[in-house]
Amino acid sequence: MTKHNPFKISQKQLDRAAEKLGLDKATQEFLRWPQREIKVTLPVKMDDGSTKVFKGFRVQYNTARGPAKGGLRWHPDETIDTVRALAAWMTWKTAVVDIPLGGGKGGIICNPKEMSAGEQERLARAFIRALSRDLGVTRDMPAPDVYTTPQIMAWMMDEYEQLVDGSHPGVITGKPLALGGSAGRGDATARGGMLVLREAAKMLNVDLNGQTMALQGFGNVGRYTGLLAEEMLGLKVVAVGDEDGGIYNKNGIDMHALAQQCDRTGSVVNLPETEPISNEDLLQLNVTVLIPAALENVITEDNADQIKARIVPELANGPTTPEADKILHDKDICVIPDILANAGGVTVSYFETVQNICNYYWSLEEVHKRLDDKITSAFVAVYDMHLKQKVNMREAAYLVSVARVAEACKLRGWV
Ligand code: GLU
Repeated sequence: MTKHNPFKISQKQLDRAAEKLGLDKATQEFLRWPQREIKVTLPVKMDDGSTKVFKGFRVQYNTARGPAKGGLRWHPDETIDTVRALAAWMTWKTAVVDIPLGGGKGGIICNPKEMSAGEQERLARAFIRALSRDLGVTRDMPAPDVYTTPQIMAWMMDEYEQLVDGSHPGVITGKPLALGGSAGRGDATARGGMLVLREAAKMLNVDLNGQTMALQGFGNVGRYTGLLAEEMLGLKVVAVGDEDGGIYNKNGIDMHALAQQCDRTGSVVNLPETEPISNEDLLQLNVTVLIPAALENVITEDNADQIKARIVPELANGPTTPEADKILHDKDICVIPDILANAGGVTVSYFETVQNICNYYWSLEEVHKRLDDKITSAFVAVYDMHLKQKVNMREAAYLVSVARVAEACKLRGWV
């Protein structure tokens, strides 16, 4: 982790864009740091009667374009620097899809896989009690991320409403439908990823129908990506990996059977009619599309040279290190950067809050159409910048988004 500190990477990405845009030094320096970070210590009663103390963070990176927005990760390896980087990436992500929100992220150091539902509920409620003054539709709105679920969002919304009194569903997004969640939020990140992949394939003149895909990660995003890749683009998913290992079938893996197995066993390994494959070999398969949909720093200078895919949409946040990025670019592999490729989730989260505030709900068709409009326009803005400035898609996405955030900071008179 220290070798590839995500926050240092995010600062480097910002620096490159700021220099290319000719931003003044004060604006650049301001955008290199979170505006605000909150650290909390949470004592939680465990089922065995003991009390365990958890550390949590919430970083409100930049609120020039609107209230902070971004997910909450529950992970044993969480660090403040990872949360800072993820909050910066949320700032650029909301700007690239041009929704009126800032960027934030939160995390709790914990292993939800080893916690009962009751322990998770008490932890969720403790986090909201510690942070309630800093949240709300005008301040900061959390959402799901790695290892957090709609059920956790439901407990958090309930705790917030108990504390501030009244109905405030918009404070958290990614809620269950029965509590004001939006139609289409569940698969929104994956769907947004498939929409940018569709657009990228058009630009590259690649017909995706019947082509192969490898998928690393089978959480919320990975699972829906596998299903939608087949359904929307006719791709054949030949390999899937998770933290326990990977599976391969050159004729394609049945995504519905895999999702059902995962519900039962919690893992992709040992699906009938597949052979085992290591995560390292999976990344190096000769496929048209490779999708990292798990954690950061999986494509590094150690393996980038072996990657053979034509298009790499980053459904995870920060899966490619800057060194690897350069290698992939030199190999003419089209990397669709995370802040564009996985922006579908926060886009539908934005729709969710809008519906909550209006207390009027849209059909699934309406959500899909609005998502397609937003993501396609964002892709076009980034692609045009890529052609105009002769930079890769990541740099182009940063040029578009950093310019928008810098303009908002300037108009406010902050810099
Ligand atoms: N956690 C998701 C992301 O990284 C969604 C954030 C949100 O919906 O606020 O984009």
